[in-house]
Amino acid sequence: MPLTEARFFGAGDVRLLTAEPASPGPAEVAIAPLAVGVCGTDSHIVAGSFAAAPQVVLGHEVCGRIIEVGPAVDGLAVGDLVTVEPHDYCTRCTYCRLGQEHLCDDKRGYGVKLDGGMTERMVVPARIAYRLPDRTPPWIGALTEPLACCLHGMDRLDPRSGLPILIFGAGPAGAMMVALARARGLAPVVVLDPRDDRRAAALRMGADAAFDPASLDEATALTDGLGFPHVVDAVGAGRVLESAIAVSSRGGRVLVFGVARPDDEARVRPHDIFARELTLVGAVINPYTHHRAVRLLPTLGLDRLRPAFYGLHQLPEALAAQRAGTADKVFIAPHGIAAARG
Ligand SMILES: [Zn+2]
Ligand SMILES: [Zn+2]
Repeated sequence: MPLTEARFFGAGDVRLLTAEPASPGPAEVAIAPLAVGVCGTDSHIVAGSFAAAPQVVLGHEVCGRIIEVGPAVDGLAVGDLVTVEPHDYCTRCTYCRLGQEHLCDDKRGYGVKLDGGMTERMVVPARIAYRLPDRTPPWIGALTEPLACCLHGMDRLDPRSGLPILIFGAGPAGAMMVALARARGLAPVVVLDPRDDRRAAALRMGADAAFDPASLDEATALTDGLGFPHVVDAVGAGRVLESAIAVSSRGGRVLVFGVARPDDEARVRPHDIFARELTLVGAVINPYTHHRAVRLLPTLGLDRLRPAFYGLHQLPEALAAQRAGTADKVFIAPHGIAAARG
């Protein structure tokens, strides 16, 4: 039976097409995606501001059930609930050979360069399908990928428990960062976001305090005026980085985690970095963190987030909802909303 899939044809041009289902080859599995997270990257691809392969099937935050297993697959069976680690690396460039595959010269993301999960059926190498506990709600399972990215960010920030953290931005990633910061024993966990609903989401996820960015002084007061030893930019903007550096304590560590526009700039004083001995780190995607994200997933209370679900045919509405931030997290449900909720 033909299946439906959402393919990207160019800026503003996403089409629902029908296709014949492909069978899994050796060491591959076919998955019925049940919940596929919609993230800023998807919106940027569709807007034409993030490079993607022409005619690619979108969707890189995927949770689904295995519906067919190819030859030579061990440890996975039809019916298993899985999450996909959506990257493929060249394995031959200098970075790959240094164990830094996520910095690969020819990194290819599923849903960006390779066909992703916004389809009724997705075929992937079995090695990138990670089994989840069967009772996991699929929409929570689809959060494994962004959680794995947050985990890499936390690894890079390398915070010390018992000290404060300030997180700029309480979108889906910022809200997950709050849960992770809580789990790492950081205190207080403080969030800045201009939106009431996002501040409320941050508090639900365990933040001790959430302020409008205009009230930065109130946030800093929670550190006895010293500033924050850990600061996360989960927005991705030059002006946020400027504020993040300004609000750091001496010896502070600043994580650049949000995806800024490539041409965005920040004014940084080298003397500041020197005299206050600051550390600036970036974090991109999820190297070797997907396995750990699967382990952490049931412990973080991610069901406190409020999801919104859309069918494959409602992708434009789902992208608009993602951009508007009207739900804590937006999902495509290729096999219906009941199957995505679990
Ligand atoms: Zn994403
Ligand atoms: Zn490589």
